[in-house]
Amino acid sequence: MRSLYVPRRMAAATLTPRRRRTIMLATPLAELDGLALAVDCLTEGCAGERRVLIRDLAGVYGRQQTLAEALQRMRCAGCQGRTGAASCLR
Ligand SMILES: [Zn+2]
Repeated sequence: MRSLYVPRRMAAATLTPRRRRTIMLATPLAELDGLALAVDCLTEGCAGERRVLIRDLAGVYGRQQTLAEALQRMRCAGCQGRTGAASCLR
């Protein structure tokens, strides 16, 4: 299957932010190696934001899982809540 991943330089020049997010979410974790995420459950009273390396997510959920699949499966270490918000750290 052909990857939807587009190099960041090209994405910045030609894609809308929404399209860029869509592509990132559909990309297998293996192709996002080296990036990190800030993830927050958004649950009131919980410790909130955590930072995770995508390499570590790939170790837990599998390198062929897409970013969207991993985010749907992730649970907060503090409250077991689902991902409420996530952003890619540069
Ligand atoms: Zn939480």
